[in-house]
Amino acid sequence: MFKKRNYRHVATAAALSLLLLLAACSGNGNGTGGATPSASPSNEAGSGSDQATAEPAERLKVVTSFYPLYYLASEIGGEHVEVSNLIAAGIEPHDWTPKSQDLVQASQADLFLYHGAGLEVWIDDFLKGVSGDSKAIIAEASTGIKLISGQEDGYSHEEESHDHEEDGHSHGEEEHGAEEEHGHSHDTDPHTWVSPKSALVLAANVKDSLAKADPDHAADYESSYVLLKEKLESLDQTYEAGLSAVSQKNLVVSHQAFGYLARDYGLNQISIMGLSPDAEPRAQDIAKIAKFVKENGVKYIFFEELVSDQLANMLANEAGVDTMVLNPLEGLTKEQEQAGTTYLDLMNSNLQNLMKALQ
Ligand code: ZN
Repeated sequence: MFKKRNYRHVATAAALSLLLLLAACSGNGNGTGGATPSASPSNEAGSGSDQATAEPAERLKVVTSFYPLYYLASEIGGEHVEVSNLIAAGIEPHDWTPKSQDLVQASQADLFLYHGAGLEVWIDDFLKGVSGDSKAIIAEASTGIKLISGQEDGYSHEEESHDHEEDGHSHGEEEHGAEEEHGHSHDTDPHTWVSPKSALVLAANVKDSLAKADPDHAADYESSYVLLKEKLESLDQTYEAGLSAVSQKNLVVSHQAFGYLARDYGLNQISIMGLSPDAEPRAQDIAKIAKFVKENGVKYIFFEELVSDQLANMLANEAGVDTMVLNPLEGLTKEQEQAGTTYLDLMNSNLQNLMKALQ
């Protein structure tokens, strides 16, 4: 199936070319990387502000790789932590690679949280580069989540033989030998956080990591976690109720980022592109999905904000249907960040869109 092949393609070619691309288009702020390490406004962090706020120097320095972990660490850490996020608002995480400032930032942290499951394809080299003097506790937040193979998709594409032929030159052994050693596979779907059920596991892991890095405040982390857990459980119940009621179970998306949502709430994900949103599907793939859309009464093609909607529009035009936003929550846009939009807000608007599109 083409997703897997495309992802590989992205991992090889893109690992090299994105560095150049990012360097070339760094005017929008992504080139600054860790220079102003994207510390998203952390005013949402200390919501329980009746207690005295710790001096900045006393706060636990937490560095997260991408937005969902930033959100969880801020919510659970509250006023005891100072969280900064490596991947800035408006940047698509699959397009991001760390710069030396990011390494410095992670090295100086008390706790570095990354997602794992293949999301941060750069993680092994990055962790090797973290300073030997660093006292940072390093934690992989996806531990304990039952992962999905990236090859699993609700829609069975033909021409499988193409992929098997290409298995011979699986990506990046030359450049990314370290990843193989550690068993990271780009055939794993990393997008756990789009499902509230996985978010509950991520939150528990973030809480445990904070308690380990800062045992003095473990009780506070526990109580903030319990509050957040209640919100996530309520979100999960809303998803269960909403999505069990929809009649259309086929979820046609541009970027294959909703596998965990589909698995946990009984939907069938069909993706135009692969696990990384910048792969290029072939014309015949588009035609096949268009046929599927027509035959199965699918009414909307979902696209996302951080990536061009060109392909979703092309498919929607070909199939004669509309498009709608479904956010993979890989990062906020700058506007969302400024507006104080959170993971929970986006998850709620995703559910509203899903219920409208799939009714
Ligand atoms: Zn993704």
